[in-house]
Amino acid sequence: MKDFFNKNLEDVDSAIFNTIKNETERQKNVIELIPSENIVSKAVLQAMGSPLTNKYSEGYPNKRYYGGNEFIDVSETLAIERAKQLFNAEHANVQPHSGASANIEAFFALMQLKDKIMGMRLDHGGHLTHGHPVNFSGTFYNFIHYSVDKDTHLIDYDEVRSLAQKERPKVILAGGSAYPRIIDFKKFKEIADEVGAYFMVDMAHIAGLVAAGVHPDPVPFADVVTTTTHKTLRGPRGAMILSKTEDRFDRENKKNLAQKIDFAVFPGMQGGPLEHVIAAKAVCFLEALQPEFKNYAQQIVKNAKALAARLQDHGFKLISGGTDNHLILIDLQNKNITGKEAESALDRAGICCNKNMIPYDPKTPFNPSGIRIGTPAVTTRGMKEDEMKQIADWIARIIADFKNENLQKQVAEEIKALNAKFPIY
Ligand SMILES: *Cc1c(COP(=O)(O)O)cnc(C)c1O
Repeated sequence: MKDFFNKNLEDVDSAIFNTIKNETERQKNVIELIPSENIVSKAVLQAMGSPLTNKYSEGYPNKRYYGGNEFIDVSETLAIERAKQLFNAEHANVQPHSGASANIEAFFALMQLKDKIMGMRLDHGGHLTHGHPVNFSGTFYNFIHYSVDKDTHLIDYDEVRSLAQKERPKVILAGGSAYPRIIDFKKFKEIADEVGAYFMVDMAHIAGLVAAGVHPDPVPFADVVTTTTHKTLRGPRGAMILSKTEDRFDRENKKNLAQKIDFAVFPGMQGGPLEHVIAAKAVCFLEALQPEFKNYAQQIVKNAKALAARLQDHGFKLISGGTDNHLILIDLQNKNITGKEAESALDRAGICCNKNMIPYDPKTPFNPSGIRIGTPAVTTRGMKEDEMKQIADWIARIIADFKNENLQKQVAEEIKALNAKFPIY
């Protein structure tokens, strides 16, 4: 049995070993601009790849359904306490396996089947789990969607208010995955109060910016805040739910809001928590509590602004005219190229991004008019404004001549040379 425990992956399964090697090499060699991706520290990787994966820990610290959790309780409690400290939250549940799971669980805690909830339109920057008809959220709940303004591409708070007054939803949801501007959580909360709705925020994309104070904080205003841990927060793939303790609308009930959230996560939706990932979340929160993380998050935004400005110099049209956060949505309609064509031309040159719908897009989700880019991963590598200008210049060259495969090969080589100066792992 000694062999079983101590053989290296390389010797056990060369196919998977080589795939991991190839993928790591790919990550080293590309410019990663997918705004929902990042590059975790070695410390986070080590926590994730630990024997904590062996343990069953259904329940919560000191209230488990299995024995032998004395050390697991230490790491999950550290994760909870650090999450609360990082976001100044009253309650944290660190068990959600993913952002989608966290949203399911929050909805399950706040609503009954078919209850009414308001969220941002997916093609205006929302998320699949905010009521898309193919998703559980659009099937189980009665979603009403607000839009962004046709000219400014900003959330139209007057529309949010009038829609909320007309529809009287049980929950108002803010947050999304393709909105390049600041979200006014205070205004959302005022509207929620006017109509007696819970206010929920999905800050999956901006959590790292919020933690560092470079984006307004939803936690003081929202009843419930869900987030992934692997985007700007730069932790392991996973999620968490922050909430208030008190349930503003249900004081008589035997459970307060924090208890409802915990109950919705387990036993409501999930079984055994991924304790190796929760330990890695604890490491990520500790990293995010350091002063350097503030510099990192500030640099993400500086980089996004530098990238946006240079793209505009090259004649690119940006949704909302720029960015306040980590992401940029490019409207390609004036460039005679679709989002799909741009994504694959850039991909061949070693620049990773994703095609994306733009607000009021005349095209379809499979071949939309835009691409979405962002700066969390390149900022983690240590790149700054000068490199952003260089990246914008590459994007402009590739898109202007998107069928030129020699140019793509040439740029891929130039990118490898730049990346060699910003090594990972
Ligand atoms: C990424 C994201 C999610 C989903 O996270 P997964 O971990 O991929 O399930 C949910 N909401 C928003 C706003 C997101 O950006």
